[in-house]
This record gives sequence, C-alpha cells and structure tokens, in this order.
Amino acid sequence: MMLPDFRDLELYRLPDVKGSYKKHVVMAPYTWFRVGGATTVFRPQDHEDLGQFLLKNSEEVPVTIIGAASNILIRDGGIPGVVIKLGKNFASITFESNSVRIGAALPNGIAARLALKQGYSGLEFLSGIPGTIGGGLRMNAGAHGKEIKDILIEAEVIDSTGNFKVLSLEEMRMSYRHCGVPQDYIFLSGLFKTGKDEPSDIQKRLDEIEARRLESQPITERTGGSTFKNPKGYKAWELIEAAGCRGVSIGGAMVSEKHCNFLVNTGNANATDLENLGNLVQKKVKDSTGIELEWEIKLLGVHKDSKFNRENVKL
Ligand SMILES: Cc1cc2nc3c(=O)[nH]c(=O)nc-3n(C[C@H](O)[C@H](O)[C@H](O)COP(=O)(O)OP(=O)(O)OC[C@H]3O[C@@H](n4cnc5c(N)ncnc54)[C@H](O)[C@@H]3O)c2cc1C
Repeated sequence: MMLPDFRDLELYRLPDVKGSYKKHVVMAPYTWFRVGGATTVFRPQDHEDLGQFLLKNSEEVPVTIIGAASNILIRDGGIPGVVIKLGKNFASITFESNSVRIGAALPNGIAARLALKQGYSGLEFLSGIPGTIGGGLRMNAGAHGKEIKDILIEAEVIDSTGNFKVLSLEEMRMSYRHCGVPQDYIFLSGLFKTGKDEPSDIQKRLDEIEARRLESQPITERTGGSTFKNPKGYKAWELIEAAGCRGVSIGGAMVSEKHCNFLVNTGNANATDLENLGNLVQKKVKDSTGIELEWEIKLLGVHKDSKFNRENVKL
C-alpha cells in the first residue's frame, strides 16, 4: 500500500513532548559512514517523556531508534517518520555488588573505562565496539570471543505503545548478532554480570584490544563495521577475499583493503554507492561459492526520490 510521504511531517501532528523535535535533520554527519538523508529527530527528555510519546504517537508515523549509528546505513532519501535518539538521561551507570546497570545511550567504550576505574572486570571486550549499550543489546554485539549475551542478566525495554518491561536473558532470545525481541522495542538499560580485578590488569586487557583493533580494522575510516554476518562454518571476509572483492569500489564506496568485510566511504560516497557495493559483494560471493551472505549492517530508510511505502521501511 502506498502511503503519503512521511518525510513531510508538517502534515502530521506529533505528540506534545518535554524533549525536543528537530525536523529536516540530514543524518550523514551523525553516522559512522557519513552518509544518509534527512529525518525528524526526537530527543526524549526522560523515560516518562519517551513513554508518553510512544503512547500518543499516531500508528501511521513510523518510529526508528538509533544509537551511535555505527552499524547502520541510512539511505539517501532519509528515514520517514521519527528517529529517536536517547541522550544523557538514558546514559546512567550504577555499580552493584556483582553487576552493573548501564543506560542504553552510554557508549560502550565509556562504560568499559568507567568499569575499569571501579575495578569491575568483564566489560573489556566492549571497549573496541564503537556503539552504545542499546545498539549492543539489539545487535548482540561481540568481539574477542565474547558477546553481550554472555554477560547480560536482564534488559529494561519499552514497547511501541509505551509499556515498560524487564526481559530476562532467555526472553531476549539472543544469538550471533541477533536479538529476538520485537523490532519496535526500545532498550533503556541492561544489567550485566561483572567480576572484580586490579585496574592495572583491566587496563592491560583494554590496551591489548585497542592494539589488535588498530592493526586489523580500518577504525579511523568512515565505515559501518562488519558488513555481513559470518555464515555458519565460514568467515565472511575469507569468502569476500576469495571472490576477488578486496579493494573493489563503486563511486566513493570501497571494500576495505585492510579488512574486506568492511565497506568504507573514501570521501564522496553516498548510501546508494555503499548499498550497491554490498549487493555486488553478495552476488560475487554467491556466484563463486553458492553461499548467501546476510547483511549485518542495518539498512534504514528509503532511496532518494522514492515515495514512502511502509514495506520499504526496514528497522
Ligand atoms: C569501526 C567499527 C568496528 C566495529 N566492530 C564491531 C565488533 O567488533 N563487534 C560488533 O559486534 N560490532 C562491531 N561494529 C558494529 C557496531 O559498533 C555494533 O553493532 C554496535 O553494537 C552498534 O551500536 P550503535 O549504538 O552504533 O547502534 P546503531 O548502529 O545506531 O543501530 C544498530 C541497530 O540497533 C538498534 N538500536 C540502537 N539503539 C537501540 C536501542 N536503545 N533500543 C533498541 N534498538 C536499538 C537500531 O535500530 C539498529 O537496528 C563495529 C562498527 C565500526 C564502525
């Protein structure tokens, strides 16, 4: 069904809120890829404000949540509806005796460093994943043999009609780069298991992680991290390499020379270049190996000049 173009939200009355709306925000500067069209950004003031917004928002206005935008590719036509960005009132951190409760908006790296200061161990692997705790819960982010599900006890969420819930680890139904709760749930915080250790030993582990990342990933470039999930029994980068895709480019988008499961914006790429390049890599791997790579990066929004169609909106 073709619906009216929601990029023009003047047509729709958004609920009154305590936080702020900003319309026509071009998203490119806020994403790791530095690409992406415009949207309306809602920054809720606090949990209650977010709840009231979700309760009162018209069902016809789609809602998308983003974190640090380190694992998303926002298309050039922007994101129809409202994009929610959580701010400092969602970024608390509270240390308990054997655990830590962390707000969804807190960046992983800051969480790991604050834990280090308190002598809490177990969050080190998060230090090199450049997202927020909320994005990490949705993606079941992981590195160096550990993922969020290995340390998660429970997560606090809010559903699309503003109901707050606490979900146990089992209810999160997490697996490799996947969380099984409905797409429209917004994570507010996670409670994570921790140990205790000497800060100097934790620091040593953080330094090792930093060094390994610098060596193996193009972390100083405009990228979105791993483009594709590793298929069972394979490494995506090996399949991409074998298909001859290392260094291949379309427009300003290139398959990283350093880590060929990373796409990079070499300067003037748009989202279409990056998406087309990903699709090309997928096709070449499929043609040469028969294996279908699955996008790990989330493709959000609509192509330039496309009319909004609810089926186009992939959260
Ligand atoms: C250089 C680089 C290296 C990376 N290395 C790794 C790595 O080693 N391991 C790894 O797992 N990932 C890695 N990534 C990918 C990325 O950092 C992770 O997936 C991260 O967890 C995404 O968090 P984010 O806050 O940036 O989420 P976004 O990219 O903003 O969003 C990702 C998804 O999470 C959803 N989301 C965000 N916040 C919330 C919330 N509060 N509630 C519900 N859903 C939410 C979004 O809707 C979207 O579907 C890397 C990325 C880069 C750029």
